[in-house]
Amino acid sequence: MNKKIRLRFAPSPTGPLHIGGLRTALFNYLIVKKMKGSLILRIEDTDQTRLVKGSEKHIEDSLKWAGIKCDESPKKGGAYGPYKQSERKKIYSKYIEILIKKGAAYYAFDTKEELDSHRKNHELKGKTFIYNSHNRNKLNNSLNLSKEELKKKLDEKSYVVRFKTKENSTVKCQDLIRGKVSVSTKEIDDKILFKSDGMPTYHLANVVDDHLMKISHVIRGEEWLPSLALHVLLYEALDFEKPHFAHLPLILKPTGKGKLSKRDGVTFGFPIYPISWKDNNTIYKGFNEEGYLPEAINNYMAFLGWNNADEKEVYTIKELINDFSINDINSSGAKFDPEKLLWLNFQHIQLIDEQDLSKIISKEMGTKTEDSLKISRMIKPRLEKITNIKKAFSYLIEKPTIDQKSLSKISNEKTENILVIISNFFMENKQTEISKLKSKMFSKLSDSGIKPGKAMPIIRVALVGKLEGPDLFDLIKFLGINETTKRLSLLQDILTKI
Ligand code: GLU
Repeated sequence: MNKKIRLRFAPSPTGPLHIGGLRTALFNYLIVKKMKGSLILRIEDTDQTRLVKGSEKHIEDSLKWAGIKCDESPKKGGAYGPYKQSERKKIYSKYIEILIKKGAAYYAFDTKEELDSHRKNHELKGKTFIYNSHNRNKLNNSLNLSKEELKKKLDEKSYVVRFKTKENSTVKCQDLIRGKVSVSTKEIDDKILFKSDGMPTYHLANVVDDHLMKISHVIRGEEWLPSLALHVLLYEALDFEKPHFAHLPLILKPTGKGKLSKRDGVTFGFPIYPISWKDNNTIYKGFNEEGYLPEAINNYMAFLGWNNADEKEVYTIKELINDFSINDINSSGAKFDPEKLLWLNFQHIQLIDEQDLSKIISKEMGTKTEDSLKISRMIKPRLEKITNIKKAFSYLIEKPTIDQKSLSKISNEKTENILVIISNFFMENKQTEISKLKSKMFSKLSDSGIKPGKAMPIIRVALVGKLEGPDLFDLIKFLGINETTKRLSLLQDILTKI
């Protein structure tokens, strides 16, 4: 098959886009870019009862945030539009007629109550009710009606159209990740293709659209694997050429047990959406709002199913496009590991250009460009997220609050004396060049019989408020000797009060 590569991401606007959906979009995007094809965004909104307001926009904005650009979409348009299924209603009716004419589909009039009662009766006998070849001739459908009866019923009653699944045969499906998948038609029910509200169901609309939009590869989540056999049968019934299929592995909870769900974000305390989502009055922060870079999210998502050949872990999007291949996607579930993601976020922050990081810092801390640049150099090696920077590094712009645990670690009978010696040293060296300060201070300490290892933590607590932070002399350089001495005397005050 030498067809043009055309892939699609086909979400339903039934809720915000979560990490699983974004991963599907990313895999499609990587393959399209690698194979120089086109990516189509199709909004599958045939189930009008499940539509969630704002979710279509959330999908679009999330893709934009992640840098996943589509070549054709409801907004952009394209040669195969409209790209929203609710705007394609007329198209589907034509294919339903074809299927009915061919005898591959039929009208069904069973009411909800009738179907419920069949289900109940089966349950009582320990069986499962499946609407297909073994009982369709006893049910309320056009297969059991004369032409006249059918005409009358169609005028009077509401109906659905069901697919007439072949009797006793095996559907052979091919999946690029899983190989051959065979399904017996005994296990497939006569799925509804067309609903009483005049809308097609997902199955029909999906197959018709993939055909009309000339999709070459259908790459979607594993949850659609059970629908594959029905789709294959539909392609065959409609005489459509089948696309290639690939069903991506499930994303599992951090515990490795069960599929990652939208609720797990709250349970495990990490974001689940790329960008924030407002649900009634609750705001769920996304990876964006929690300080994750889209580059890190893309890098991490690629590993949710992809098995790269070497040990390399940090990938830019260009490198992913280059190295990624469908052949290296696993079929087994991929565990979502928030710690690994945080590590990758840190790695990608290290790749941010100094000027760009200083802009982020100006915005977060309200500092001037010159200071932001100095701060960015100092804190970059310890920055895991790009939000809450002001909170984490407030000591760079205001006096620190002294952490009691750190204070108790440095407090002993010698602390005050050491503090006096250091303070005096700084007072006497206000004019000393910062580059010479370190060696001068070290010799002063050694003259006083103090080990630098004893003095440094004390200075750190005075300047930072706790036993962490950037290189001390970089910090002194940034704060200036005046501010340094002020902070040292504040610590002295605190110690004398203890
Ligand atoms: N509309 C389906 C969904 O919401 C898409 C399934 C497919 O890609 O075929 O995930």
